[in-house]
Amino acid sequence: MFLSDQWKKVLNKLENEVTAVTFDLWINTLTPIQYGNDELTLIAPSITAKNQVNQPAIFDKITKCVREEFNPYTFVRITERNEYEEKMRRGEQQLEKMQKDSPTLKSKFNKKYTFENFVIGKSNQVVCAAMQSVAEHPSSKFNPLFIYGGVGLGKTHLLHAVGNYLNEHDPDLNVLYVTCEKFTNDYVESIRNGKDKTNMDFREKYRNVDVLMIDDIQFISNKMGIQEEFFHTFNDLYQNNKQIIIASDRSPKDMSALEERLRSRFSSGLIQDIQEPDYETKVAIIKKKCSQEGYLVDPDVVDFIAQKTGTNIREMEGILSKVVFYSSLLGKTHASMEDALESLKDYAETERTDLDADKIVNTVCDFFKISREEIVGKKKNKEIVEPRQLCIYLINEMLNIPLTAIGAIFGGRDHTTIMHARDKIGNQVKVNPHIKTLVNDIKSRLLKY
Ligand code: ADP
Ligand code: MG
Repeated sequence: MFLSDQWKKVLNKLENEVTAVTFDLWINTLTPIQYGNDELTLIAPSITAKNQVNQPAIFDKITKCVREEFNPYTFVRITERNEYEEKMRRGEQQLEKMQKDSPTLKSKFNKKYTFENFVIGKSNQVVCAAMQSVAEHPSSKFNPLFIYGGVGLGKTHLLHAVGNYLNEHDPDLNVLYVTCEKFTNDYVESIRNGKDKTNMDFREKYRNVDVLMIDDIQFISNKMGIQEEFFHTFNDLYQNNKQIIIASDRSPKDMSALEERLRSRFSSGLIQDIQEPDYETKVAIIKKKCSQEGYLVDPDVVDFIAQKTGTNIREMEGILSKVVFYSSLLGKTHASMEDALESLKDYAETERTDLDADKIVNTVCDFFKISREEIVGKKKNKEIVEPRQLCIYLINEMLNIPLTAIGAIFGGRDHTTIMHARDKIGNQVKVNPHIKTLVNDIKSRLLKY
């Protein structure tokens, strides 16, 4: 939805840059098909059209307008429809063939989880450097490399980044990524029938790899000799100078079910933790995500999301896409602060158990620099009445409490008075931009952690 809207804007610009004939015959026939990682792919309906628009004079203008609309680093690729489809088909076939040919199961990695897409901050720079070093020179420095940290801090992303890097730079290496659960299931299966689900011999599979990555090792159990088997796999690989990378949500020392001999094996390499991101890193991650996904959001929305969310980056991404999705449903190309507040209303209500009437009253007083006595009192001057009505409106909207209870907070006012204030501001929010901004500003203060 976003992509075609954005492309329409590019077209509007291009219309003024080229002749009407060029525009109608060639440019207007292009279809945007994909945008991500700063690359926009456009499809031309025929080879002739493709050749026309790839002429430098036209192509440069397209690139210029695309960069104005998307971002200044966007790379434009124009291809012809059949060529594009053929390329996609070939890509899939190659992947299938590769998996059939390879003696072990080579892992596929999520193309989005690369080092380029990983934002480095204070909290993760050491871990990231260690992972990069291992990707560049496997089995030479940190072996095993054990990384640990809380949920959603980027451990799986980094493992995939190593996988993607190795697949690109060293395609002959057998790189295997498994979760602890998969390792366990493969093993259990192999005890049953000598093979795992993919019909491979367990040992042949796990001991034939050059780089073994095990994710979420905290789930390793002590049942059915799993740790015993893992110990042998580990030793085998280690002795053959193969790289082992392990990720966990806690340090080996805090894994109570871990056998002592495994703990000591893990300690023989590098154990590095990944910490919670600070505010700046969170902002940088949101921006990166926006440029990667082609999301357009106002800067204050980025700020707001970074402030509002905790440290789980996965959760932060979820909130960002919720906001963008909401604004796209309204047919907007930019997500505004208003969209953010509106789309996160439920989130705020369920997550924010600490929000109460007292907090809203205090925040409003603080915002307008008036006292609590004044806001709940009887004064009728505009400087007090407007904040009072706003406060009533906000309490009514953000909290689930009866009008009479709100009346009680405001010096025993009648519920019809409360209703009047609520409706007055409610109507103004729709027509008066000044009031709308006030409401949004106070709400965003209230929703900050
Ligand atoms: P974990 O495995 O530690 O629970 P993930 O690797 O699954 O966390 O990360 C959760 C999400 O957050 C992923 O979508 C990932 O791309 C993103 N993420 C985490 N850290 C970063 C970072 N530093 N830069 C960009 N994206 C990140
Ligand atoms: Mg993970």
